[in-house]
Amino acid sequence: MDKYHRRKFLKGSMLAGLSAAVLPLATKAEILTVAPQQKYKHWVWTNPNLKDTPEELALRYRKYYEAGIRGIFFEHDSELHFRAAKAQKLEAHHWIWTMNRGEKSLLAEHPEWYAKNRKGESCADQPPYVNYYRWLCPSREEVRQYLETVYETALKKDYVDGIHLDYVRFSDVILPVNLWQDYKLVQTSEAPEFDFCYCEVCQEKYKKTSGTTLSEIEYPEASPSWRFFRYQQVNEVVQRLTNLAAKYNKPITAAVFPTPDIAHRNVKQDWVNWKVDGVCPMIYHGFYKENVGWIGTAVAEGVRALHGKFPLYAGLYLPDFKNNEELGQGITNALVNGAAGVSLFGDVTDANLAALKSASSRKT
Ligand SMILES: [Zn+2]
Repeated sequence: MDKYHRRKFLKGSMLAGLSAAVLPLATKAEILTVAPQQKYKHWVWTNPNLKDTPEELALRYRKYYEAGIRGIFFEHDSELHFRAAKAQKLEAHHWIWTMNRGEKSLLAEHPEWYAKNRKGESCADQPPYVNYYRWLCPSREEVRQYLETVYETALKKDYVDGIHLDYVRFSDVILPVNLWQDYKLVQTSEAPEFDFCYCEVCQEKYKKTSGTTLSEIEYPEASPSWRFFRYQQVNEVVQRLTNLAAKYNKPITAAVFPTPDIAHRNVKQDWVNWKVDGVCPMIYHGFYKENVGWIGTAVAEGVRALHGKFPLYAGLYLPDFKNNEELGQGITNALVNGAAGVSLFGDVTDANLAALKSASSRKT
């Protein structure tokens, strides 16, 4: 009996109270830790292609498993893909965008739920950078309830093993440096049009908790308490979704910014203080004009900050690697610095899988 089923069993027995009181997080986290015979647990992020056939999926996922991959984050629901993954002993998690939600129905019905920048412009009609940047305000109770509904729909499905959060943050006040040229920007300071959320609800709530009127602060972007307040709002959203996942006895993980420092600075994301079952920092070295050596540095920073609270899986962006030798080096750098595995983004080739397998079995 695997650990997941054992926990279900305990929950249904007279020991339920005891097991829940003593080991709630530990037992759930075990689902995400590695089996004794395998040191690491690897993941793949993918968007299920509805043209895939069951035969293709069976072959692809078997290869994944053989290379050490143990779970897939699917960006959309596709029962065929989820079940095909599970048939090859992979966990199938539903990857869902959190704060960035541009569904037409929501934009039409609740434009007031969208985040506002320091100039008072709303993501509902004036999205920053790109048209799909439609950020919700994390402070609003209605937004939190809406997100719970979205994730609960996924959690209810028997073929969904867990939920995976993405865009769980504010819009980038600073973009990764490699993107500056694309937008013709130099973001060495926090410009008002990219700084969120300054809506009425945020201002009111901040006043209640801090006693300070935001409009009276000359440089709000430099205010530690205002910054902290905003971290807390997203943290509270995550906590609500964590509670929800626990109700279904399913793990919750998140794709996050590469290091605690960059997460705080660029997108006001405070993932070190979440209570999730694992994080996948997107250590996309090319985005930050770094080399593969930085992957190890970034992993070490995250692992140190987490103090073993939950596992960290290094998110790697396959197009950033020049060849598979370099990919192998990047994976090794992540693993020797304490990552519990890696999560790959991009088209995963057989050669990528070979690099993954070889890096994972290297003596460290
Ligand atoms: Zn707000």
